[in-house]
Amino acid sequence: MQQTLAQKIALTGIGLHSGVETIMTIKPAREDTGIVIVRDDVTDRDNRIPARYDHVIDTRLCTVVGNKAGVTVGTVEHVMAALRACDIDNAILELDGPEIPVFDGSSRPFIKAIDSVGVKTLSAPRRAIRILKEVRYEEEGKWVTLSPSTGSSFDVTIDFDNSSIGRQSAKIDLYTQDFESQISDARTFGFLHEVNALRQQGLALGGSLENAVVIDGDTILNPEGTRYDNEFARHKLLDAVGDLYLAGGIILGAYKSYKAGHALNNKMLQHLFVTPEAFEIIDLEHSPCILRSESVFETIVA
Ligand SMILES: [Zn+2]
Repeated sequence: MQQTLAQKIALTGIGLHSGVETIMTIKPAREDTGIVIVRDDVTDRDNRIPARYDHVIDTRLCTVVGNKAGVTVGTVEHVMAALRACDIDNAILELDGPEIPVFDGSSRPFIKAIDSVGVKTLSAPRRAIRILKEVRYEEEGKWVTLSPSTGSSFDVTIDFDNSSIGRQSAKIDLYTQDFESQISDARTFGFLHEVNALRQQGLALGGSLENAVVIDGDTILNPEGTRYDNEFARHKLLDAVGDLYLAGGIILGAYKSYKAGHALNNKMLQHLFVTPEAFEIIDLEHSPCILRSESVFETIVA
């Protein structure tokens, strides 16, 4: 069945690109609401933005969603990954600024906050997008595929011409493995020379060693180093889970990518939804993520 949060939660933090401190409240929502973002600070026009692939307006640095009134919200991917991992189908994200707070650059703070209130089961079946036939999107040697599978798996490979990153992979099946312990704390990353260039354009203003792994040449500048040998691939997997949750439901299938990012993830979804023979929408009576449901249950009881 569909789920929402048992209670609202409030979080405050700065945006990675805007540097603006933002208060975000995640509120429970009724069946079939989906994930909707509301810009509280915008009062003179439509301030609601569905967190969906067909509202994505920019994917260059992060995933940005917007509506017809020109109201936008940036860096939605990390909170979307947390909502997917926690099996939250419906929620309203109210924000008083242009960007979701970045916290430590991972999804874990959002998951901890959701776990602190627990989830509530609603009375409508969960909707899933089942992949029936492989679809592939490729561009300049980078590609993404979605294939039929009984699970909901992600398999990501990146390949950077940089010895700190190099070629690395990460995999998970959200049905049988725990996203929170394996993937959710992998942080976003960037190169120092790019950060400097972005700052001159008024971007990455909130970026620091507190919320990103920063690489200068072949050196990682963060004194603590990386959290995993393959933290960069794990973070790209986290981004893919968040970007793919913009499909409007969970995907039953296998996602695989090579050197992909936000742009390819969005193009993959656009391609999928104009390929009707490649998918079907089905209802799920039971929450498929048994492992996750049990861990949330323990949190509520404790
Ligand atoms: Zn990210």
